[in-house]
Amino acid sequence: MGSAVPNGPRPVAVNPIVEMNGDEMTRIIWGLVKQRLIEPFVELKLESYDLHLPERDRTKDAVTHEAARAIRRHGVGVKCATITPDAARVKEYHLEKAWPSPNGTIRAALDGTVFRKPIAVRTIPPMVRSWTKPIIIGRHAYGDVYRNAEMKIPGPGQVEMSFHPASGGDAMTIVVHEFEGPGVVRGQHNLDGSIRAFAQACIQYALSERVDLWFAAKDTISKTYHASFKRIFAEEVEKRRADLDAAGVRYQYLLIDDAVARVMRHEGGFLWACRNYDGDLMSDMLASGFGSLGLMTSVLVSPDGKFEFEAAHGTVQRHYYQHLKGEPTSTNSTATIFAWTGALAKRGELDGTAELVHFAQALERSVIETIEAGVVTKDLAAIAEPRPAGHVTTAGFIEAIAERLASKMAAGAPR
Ligand code: NAP
Ligand code: MG
Repeated sequence: MGSAVPNGPRPVAVNPIVEMNGDEMTRIIWGLVKQRLIEPFVELKLESYDLHLPERDRTKDAVTHEAARAIRRHGVGVKCATITPDAARVKEYHLEKAWPSPNGTIRAALDGTVFRKPIAVRTIPPMVRSWTKPIIIGRHAYGDVYRNAEMKIPGPGQVEMSFHPASGGDAMTIVVHEFEGPGVVRGQHNLDGSIRAFAQACIQYALSERVDLWFAAKDTISKTYHASFKRIFAEEVEKRRADLDAAGVRYQYLLIDDAVARVMRHEGGFLWACRNYDGDLMSDMLASGFGSLGLMTSVLVSPDGKFEFEAAHGTVQRHYYQHLKGEPTSTNSTATIFAWTGALAKRGELDGTAELVHFAQALERSVIETIEAGVVTKDLAAIAEPRPAGHVTTAGFIEAIAERLASKMAAGAPR
């Protein structure tokens, strides 16, 4: 599409955005969003990778690794939801094998932390009345129960845990338990470097969003393991004390049960840094508490400032099967659109192209105003206040946003 035509898409990009397409219903949405909400308005430089499951299978998953390297290179990516294959998917798609989760591959390549943030809409009241501002969850993505070693204990006997220094010298051994009968045992680990990178990423994100930072654990019980997390967070906060003070960002450590109780009475507007398992639970609780999975965005941030944006939900398989049967669907594309606007705004911010940032803001406003005007998908129709008369289809929702966006852009968004 070489030269820009009057009223046509405007070339606004300096550097590329890495685009990763995906699967099922979100793949349908991906195409509609690009075609109706992006391409008519802005001319981008996209470096595209297709993470569609058949394509991952054909390339023996090389395409996922290439995409991850591209994000490292260009600094900004936007990803569609993808299937993480299990045995049923291997059969359904005639796969060579159950390829690993693309999100896991990309997270490992970027050594990143995932932040999940609800999209606040006036007409979608959260389940918790006090939540008037978003609560962002930062989830540590390494270790603990996800990398544990566990054993079934068949009967009476002693379980020990020991460390053998690679440099030689005496081993350290402690008794875990003297079993008098059958039971189970589990060994967990984490790494100072990983915890530190997590703390740094959370501080960085709290500064960029200008929100307070919470970290919670149970160091009163776990006096070595949890206490190490607490100590490392405190050390990293001290290193950034001047920046935090200048930005008015406060840090506090809480016991996890105290944090859970306080969250339910808090107005929000903070980043809650969670250990791996806590983050798994709390992010799903907050997603449903704030209304819908369709209103939850997710961003992966690497310690050296690379960003990957996506919706927090999956490929919405059930709706896709309806779609394949020719039945109308009403899937919420909000989080997918916000993945795009997040990437556009970040690209614009890094490149110094204000026009791209303004476009991203105009698109976000168009989505929110559409929902607030009562034009909603089925998931929101049940919880919006005032209650809308009905709901629109997947494509109908995107069409309504496109109309609003077009009039906003015509009414003098800066050229
Ligand atoms: P899901 O795709 O998140 O959908 C679960 C249910 O949540 C849907 O059936 C739907 O409920 C509701 N939902 C989610 N997103 C919605 C939206 N945008 N609009 C309206 N309703 C929405 O989870 P899943 O069905 O368990 O997983 C499907 C596939 O996604 C799996 O293969 C999994 O591997 C993959 N997955 C990928 C990612 C990722 O790429 N980041 C994350 C999670 C899962 P109703 O059916 O009640 O309408
Ligand atoms: Mg989970």
